[in-house]
Amino acid sequence: MRQPLVAGNWKMNGSRESIRELLDGIKAGMGDVNVAEVAVCAPAVYIADVEAQLSGSGVAWGGQDLSSEASGAYTGEIAASMWLDFGCRYVIVGHSERRTYHGETDEMVARKYAAARAAGLVPILCIGETLEEREQGITEEVVARQLDAVIALEGVAALNDGVIAYEPVWAIGTGKTASPEQAQEVHAFIRGRVAASDAGVAAGVRILYGGSMKPDNAEELIAKADIDGGLIGGASLNAGDFLGICKAAG
Ligand code: PEP
Repeated sequence: MRQPLVAGNWKMNGSRESIRELLDGIKAGMGDVNVAEVAVCAPAVYIADVEAQLSGSGVAWGGQDLSSEASGAYTGEIAASMWLDFGCRYVIVGHSERRTYHGETDEMVARKYAAARAAGLVPILCIGETLEEREQGITEEVVARQLDAVIALEGVAALNDGVIAYEPVWAIGTGKTASPEQAQEVHAFIRGRVAASDAGVAAGVRILYGGSMKPDNAEELIAKADIDGGLIGGASLNAGDFLGICKAAG
Protein backbone atom coordinates (compact mmCIF):
# COMPACT_ATOMS: atom_id res chain seq x y z
CA MET A 1 0.00 0.00 0.00
CA ARG A 2 1.44 3.36 -0.98
CA GLN A 3 1.70 5.85 1.89
CA PRO A 4 0.82 9.42 0.83
CA LEU A 5 3.50 12.09 1.13
CA VAL A 6 3.08 15.86 1.18
CA ALA A 7 6.39 17.65 0.72
CA GLY A 8 6.98 21.41 0.73
CA ASN A 9 9.56 23.01 -1.54
CA TRP A 10 10.41 26.42 -0.10
CA LYS A 11 12.71 27.25 -3.02
CA MET A 12 14.83 30.38 -2.35
CA ASN A 13 12.44 31.91 0.16
CA GLY A 14 12.48 32.75 3.84
CA SER A 15 14.74 34.02 6.59
CA ARG A 16 15.71 32.52 9.94
CA GLU A 17 12.83 34.42 11.50
CA SER A 18 10.16 33.57 8.94
CA ILE A 19 11.18 29.91 8.86
CA ARG A 20 10.99 29.68 12.64
CA GLU A 21 7.45 31.08 12.55
CA LEU A 22 6.44 28.85 9.64
CA LEU A 23 7.67 25.69 11.37
CA ASP A 24 6.04 26.73 14.67
CA GLY A 25 2.77 27.05 12.76
CA ILE A 26 3.15 23.70 11.01
CA LYS A 27 4.08 21.88 14.22
CA ALA A 28 1.15 23.43 16.07
CA GLY A 29 -1.29 22.11 13.45
CA MET A 30 0.15 18.64 12.95
CA GLY A 31 -2.19 17.12 15.54
CA ASP A 32 -5.09 17.45 13.05
CA VAL A 33 -3.14 15.92 10.18
CA ASN A 34 -3.22 12.21 9.47
CA VAL A 35 -1.37 12.00 6.16
CA ALA A 36 1.32 9.31 6.41
CA GLU A 37 4.30 11.54 5.72
CA VAL A 38 4.96 15.27 5.71
CA ALA A 39 8.27 16.90 4.77
CA VAL A 40 9.74 20.30 3.98
CA CYS A 41 12.68 20.93 1.64
CA ALA A 42 14.58 23.95 2.85
CA PRO A 43 17.37 26.22 1.58
CA ALA A 44 20.72 24.72 2.59
CA VAL A 45 21.84 27.51 4.90
CA TYR A 46 18.81 27.04 7.12
CA ILE A 47 18.97 23.26 7.36
CA ALA A 48 20.56 23.22 10.84
CA ASP A 49 17.76 25.44 12.14
CA VAL A 50 15.18 23.21 10.47
CA GLU A 51 16.76 20.11 12.00
CA ALA A 52 16.74 21.70 15.46
CA GLN A 53 13.10 22.68 15.14
CA LEU A 54 11.72 19.55 13.53
CA SER A 55 13.58 16.79 15.35
CA GLY A 56 11.01 14.54 17.00
CA SER A 57 8.08 16.46 15.45
CA GLY A 58 6.92 13.87 12.91
CA VAL A 59 7.72 16.26 10.06
CA ALA A 60 10.71 15.19 7.96
CA TRP A 61 13.03 17.58 6.14
CA GLY A 62 15.30 17.63 3.16
CA GLY A 63 17.26 19.58 0.56
CA GLN A 64 16.29 21.00 -2.81
CA ASP A 65 19.26 19.77 -4.84
CA LEU A 66 22.58 17.95 -4.36
CA SER A 67 25.83 17.26 -6.12
CA SER A 68 26.20 14.13 -8.18
CA GLU A 69 29.68 13.79 -6.66
CA ALA A 70 30.42 12.40 -3.20
CA SER A 71 33.01 15.06 -2.17
CA GLY A 72 35.93 17.06 -3.50
CA ALA A 73 36.73 20.18 -5.50
CA TYR A 74 33.20 21.25 -6.45
CA THR A 75 32.89 24.80 -5.15
CA GLY A 76 29.43 25.69 -3.96
CA GLU A 77 28.03 22.19 -4.24
CA ILE A 78 26.39 20.16 -1.47
CA ALA A 79 27.01 16.41 -1.16
CA ALA A 80 24.40 13.85 -0.17
CA SER A 81 26.44 13.06 2.96
CA MET A 82 26.16 16.71 4.05
CA TRP A 83 22.37 16.66 3.86
CA LEU A 84 22.41 13.41 5.82
CA ASP A 85 24.66 14.98 8.43
CA PHE A 86 21.77 17.32 9.23
CA GLY A 87 19.17 14.61 9.50
CA CYS A 88 17.63 15.03 6.06
CA ARG A 89 15.47 12.24 4.73
CA TYR A 90 14.61 13.68 1.31
CA VAL A 91 16.29 15.63 -1.47
CA ILE A 92 14.61 17.01 -4.59
CA VAL A 93 16.38 16.19 -7.85
CA GLY A 94 15.69 17.56 -11.31
CA HIS A 95 13.27 20.31 -10.33
CA SER A 96 12.26 22.14 -13.52
CA GLU A 97 13.88 25.34 -12.19
CA ARG A 98 17.21 23.45 -11.97
CA ARG A 99 16.69 22.01 -15.43
CA THR A 100 15.77 25.41 -16.89
CA TYR A 101 18.09 27.86 -15.09
CA HIS A 102 21.05 25.57 -14.40
CA GLY A 103 21.04 23.48 -17.55
CA GLU A 104 20.55 20.17 -15.76
CA THR A 105 20.15 17.42 -18.33
CA ASP A 106 18.31 14.13 -17.85
CA GLU A 107 21.69 12.40 -17.43
CA MET A 108 22.85 14.88 -14.77
CA VAL A 109 19.58 14.44 -12.91
CA ALA A 110 19.96 10.66 -13.07
CA ARG A 111 23.44 10.93 -11.56
CA LYS A 112 22.07 13.10 -8.76
CA TYR A 113 19.35 10.51 -8.17
CA ALA A 114 22.07 7.87 -7.94
CA ALA A 115 24.16 9.95 -5.52
CA ALA A 116 21.21 10.53 -3.22
CA ARG A 117 20.25 6.88 -3.27
CA ALA A 118 23.79 5.65 -2.68
CA ALA A 119 23.98 7.80 0.45
CA GLY A 120 20.61 6.67 1.79
CA LEU A 121 18.63 9.83 1.04
CA VAL A 122 15.23 9.50 -0.62
CA PRO A 123 15.38 11.38 -3.93
CA ILE A 124 12.22 13.14 -5.10
CA LEU A 125 12.62 12.97 -8.88
CA CYS A 126 10.80 15.81 -10.64
CA ILE A 127 9.63 15.26 -14.20
CA GLY A 128 7.18 17.20 -16.36
CA GLU A 129 6.55 18.91 -19.65
CA THR A 130 6.55 22.58 -20.60
CA LEU A 131 3.47 24.26 -22.05
CA GLU A 132 5.04 24.15 -25.50
CA GLU A 133 5.65 20.41 -25.18
CA ARG A 134 2.07 19.83 -24.03
CA GLU A 135 0.75 21.82 -26.95
CA GLN A 136 2.91 19.78 -29.30
CA GLY A 137 1.34 16.63 -27.86
CA ILE A 138 4.64 15.24 -26.59
CA THR A 139 3.95 15.18 -22.83
CA GLU A 140 4.32 11.40 -22.61
CA GLU A 141 7.48 11.40 -24.69
CA VAL A 142 9.05 14.03 -22.41
CA VAL A 143 8.21 12.40 -19.08
CA ALA A 144 9.21 8.98 -20.44
CA ARG A 145 12.60 10.35 -21.50
CA GLN A 146 13.17 11.98 -18.08
CA LEU A 147 12.16 8.81 -16.25
CA ASP A 148 14.06 6.47 -18.54
CA ALA A 149 17.33 8.31 -17.83
CA VAL A 150 17.13 7.17 -14.20
CA ILE A 151 16.07 3.64 -15.12
CA ALA A 152 18.91 3.39 -17.65
CA LEU A 153 21.55 4.47 -15.15
CA GLU A 154 20.32 2.77 -12.00
CA GLY A 155 17.88 0.07 -13.06
CA VAL A 156 14.14 0.11 -12.45
CA ALA A 157 14.50 -1.23 -8.88
CA ALA A 158 16.16 2.10 -7.97
CA LEU A 159 12.67 3.62 -8.04
CA ASN A 160 11.88 1.59 -4.91
CA ASP A 161 14.19 3.98 -3.05
CA GLY A 162 12.76 7.23 -4.35
CA VAL A 163 9.63 9.21 -5.06
CA ILE A 164 8.53 10.59 -8.43
CA ALA A 165 6.93 14.04 -8.67
CA TYR A 166 5.00 14.84 -11.84
CA GLU A 167 5.19 18.59 -12.17
CA PRO A 168 3.86 20.09 -15.39
CA VAL A 169 6.13 23.11 -15.81
CA TRP A 170 3.22 25.26 -17.00
CA ALA A 171 1.49 24.71 -13.64
CA ILE A 172 4.44 25.58 -11.38
CA GLY A 173 4.00 28.90 -9.64
CA THR A 174 1.48 30.03 -12.26
CA GLY A 175 -1.77 29.40 -10.42
CA LYS A 176 -2.76 27.09 -13.32
CA THR A 177 -3.30 23.62 -11.89
CA ALA A 178 -3.60 20.55 -14.07
CA SER A 179 -7.15 19.27 -13.74
CA PRO A 180 -7.41 16.07 -11.70
CA GLU A 181 -8.16 14.21 -14.95
CA GLN A 182 -5.16 15.71 -16.78
CA ALA A 183 -2.87 14.91 -13.86
CA GLN A 184 -4.23 11.38 -13.41
CA GLU A 185 -3.73 10.66 -17.11
CA VAL A 186 0.00 11.45 -16.88
CA HIS A 187 0.41 9.74 -13.50
CA ALA A 188 -1.15 6.57 -14.96
CA PHE A 189 1.17 6.83 -17.94
CA ILE A 190 4.22 7.16 -15.64
CA ARG A 191 3.14 4.17 -13.55
CA GLY A 192 2.52 2.20 -16.72
CA ARG A 193 5.96 3.10 -18.00
CA VAL A 194 7.53 1.77 -14.80
CA ALA A 195 5.27 -1.32 -14.95
CA ALA A 196 6.58 -2.11 -18.41
CA SER A 197 9.93 -2.79 -16.68
CA ASP A 198 8.67 -4.08 -13.33
CA ALA A 199 5.05 -4.32 -12.18
CA GLY A 200 6.01 -4.65 -8.52
CA VAL A 201 8.08 -1.46 -8.53
CA ALA A 202 5.26 0.35 -10.36
CA ALA A 203 2.70 -0.70 -7.76
CA GLY A 204 4.84 0.59 -4.90
CA VAL A 205 6.38 3.80 -6.21
CA ARG A 206 4.80 7.01 -4.97
CA ILE A 207 4.00 9.58 -7.64
CA LEU A 208 3.30 13.07 -6.28
CA TYR A 209 1.60 15.86 -8.19
CA GLY A 210 3.17 19.33 -8.13
CA GLY A 211 1.96 22.55 -9.71
CA SER A 212 -0.10 25.20 -7.92
CA MET A 213 -1.58 22.70 -5.48
CA LYS A 214 -3.67 24.51 -2.85
CA PRO A 215 -5.97 23.44 0.00
CA ASP A 216 -9.00 23.84 -2.26
CA ASN A 217 -7.78 21.63 -5.12
CA ALA A 218 -5.63 19.13 -3.22
CA GLU A 219 -8.39 16.73 -2.21
CA GLU A 220 -9.67 16.17 -5.75
CA LEU A 221 -6.16 15.69 -7.10
CA ILE A 222 -4.99 13.34 -4.37
CA ALA A 223 -8.22 11.31 -4.61
CA LYS A 224 -7.11 10.11 -8.06
CA ALA A 225 -5.91 6.52 -8.23
CA ASP A 226 -2.31 7.23 -9.21
CA ILE A 227 -1.72 10.46 -7.28
CA ASP A 228 0.01 9.69 -4.00
CA GLY A 229 0.45 13.16 -2.54
CA GLY A 230 1.89 16.51 -3.49
CA LEU A 231 5.04 18.52 -3.93
CA ILE A 232 4.04 21.99 -2.88
CA GLY A 233 5.83 25.23 -3.72
CA GLY A 234 4.09 28.52 -2.98
CA ALA A 235 1.46 27.10 -0.63
CA SER A 236 4.15 25.49 1.54
CA LEU A 237 5.28 28.95 2.67
CA ASN A 238 2.06 29.48 4.58
CA ALA A 239 1.45 27.16 7.54
CA GLY A 240 -2.35 27.27 7.16
CA ASP A 241 -2.26 26.45 3.46
CA PHE A 242 0.34 23.73 3.87
CA LEU A 243 -1.60 22.14 6.70
CA GLY A 244 -4.78 22.41 4.64
CA ILE A 245 -3.15 20.36 1.90
CA CYS A 246 -1.82 17.84 4.44
CA LYS A 247 -5.35 17.44 5.84
CA ALA A 248 -6.77 16.97 2.34
CA ALA A 249 -4.19 14.27 1.68
CA GLY A 250 -5.04 12.47 4.91
C1 PEP B 1 7.25 23.39 -7.11
O1 PEP B 1 8.05 24.31 -7.22
O2 PEP B 1 7.68 22.23 -6.96
C2 PEP B 1 5.83 23.70 -7.14
C3 PEP B 1 4.97 22.73 -7.28
O3 PEP B 1 5.50 25.03 -7.03
P1 PEP B 1 4.02 25.64 -6.88
O4 PEP B 1 3.26 24.79 -5.91
O5 PEP B 1 4.24 27.04 -6.38
O6 PEP B 1 3.42 25.60 -8.24
